[in-house]
Amino acid sequence: MKVPFNDLTWQWRHIEDKVRFDFERVFASSQFSSGSFVDAFERQIAEWLSVPHAIAVDSGTSAIHLALIAAGVGAGDEVLLPAHTFIGSAWGILYIGAVPVFCDVDEETGTIDVEVARRLVTSRTRAVVPVHLYGQPANMDAVLSFALDYDLKVIEDAAQSIGATWNGRSTGSLGDLGCISFYPGKNLGAAGEAGLIVTSNDSYADRLRSLRNHAQSERYVHAELGFNYRMDGLQAVVLAHKLPLLSAWTKRRNELANQYITKLKGLPLEVPSVRHQTHCWHLFVARTPSRNSLRDALSKSGVETGLHYPVPLHRQPALSPYVKPDAAYPVSERWADEGLSLPLFVGMTDEQLDYVVRVVAAFYR
Ligand SMILES: *Cc1c(COP(=O)(O)O)cnc(C)c1O
Repeated sequence: MKVPFNDLTWQWRHIEDKVRFDFERVFASSQFSSGSFVDAFERQIAEWLSVPHAIAVDSGTSAIHLALIAAGVGAGDEVLLPAHTFIGSAWGILYIGAVPVFCDVDEETGTIDVEVARRLVTSRTRAVVPVHLYGQPANMDAVLSFALDYDLKVIEDAAQSIGATWNGRSTGSLGDLGCISFYPGKNLGAAGEAGLIVTSNDSYADRLRSLRNHAQSERYVHAELGFNYRMDGLQAVVLAHKLPLLSAWTKRRNELANQYITKLKGLPLEVPSVRHQTHCWHLFVARTPSRNSLRDALSKSGVETGLHYPVPLHRQPALSPYVKPDAAYPVSERWADEGLSLPLFVGMTDEQLDYVVRVVAAFYR
């Protein structure tokens, strides 16, 4: 049996007819960049997430960049973020000339350790970027009370967490601003690049709508440094037809994750621990010191796996100027060294999951 890491063609088969029909409408109206299809998707997703404002952009990375600007973070300001995350969490901070300050993460969940973050606050700290890693919310009660204590802006990196909630609220909607990615492999994936910023702040929303569109205040008049970060009409159509299916897809991801947790019990492999909050299972990352040899064994048996992420931010060459010489990140390093992402995707069958479990069990026997 072959088990791929993901299968996006399964999703395509469920939306194909509707999307083809609407693609015709996009071409017939030539609304390729922004336009009515993007406007309609913004209204649809704002309602789905229960947020006052949803601003469509061209990627999750752009979303974080603009969210930091809207929050008033600027050159020389310090921004706290976890050391264990995708590089896209960090780029926006560098784009604006701010200083990323890496925090070690929580042993259980791999999300930002707020007690560590507290010790790293200085007079220049302006914001914190919690990452809802693998689809599991960071501890937002801890993040929000920490931010209140030090008057920090909270910009949630919800790139992986659409469909996950904290105390009943959508991740991304708890802080000052939230950033979502629609990269094809994400739980709600476009057919190319796309992203979203959410906020309940009216003036942030107005400024974001301007910033993403060359900071155009009126036609060909530009109020400030602007960006071309608009969403495509074609992406809006794909996303609009996937969104109504997302709750069922998230439910299936939860079923698969729970099966893994039950069936892998007893093996010398640490399964993900789950907070008492909803998880959207973007990734299922188990940990084991024999990660590399287990990965080889799975690969030889036709099971594709992933590493998310093998090099933590404090070891990234591009970020080395920001690493304090005395800083240590033991928990992030263990996640990077031992984490193995097993296949978990909507469209995965129970038989495929059982096969993965059998190969893992055989490896340990
Ligand atoms: C995917 C991702 C991003 C970046 O999103 P893009 O749409 O790929 O630019 C940022 N942060 C995290 C945690 C991500 O997983």
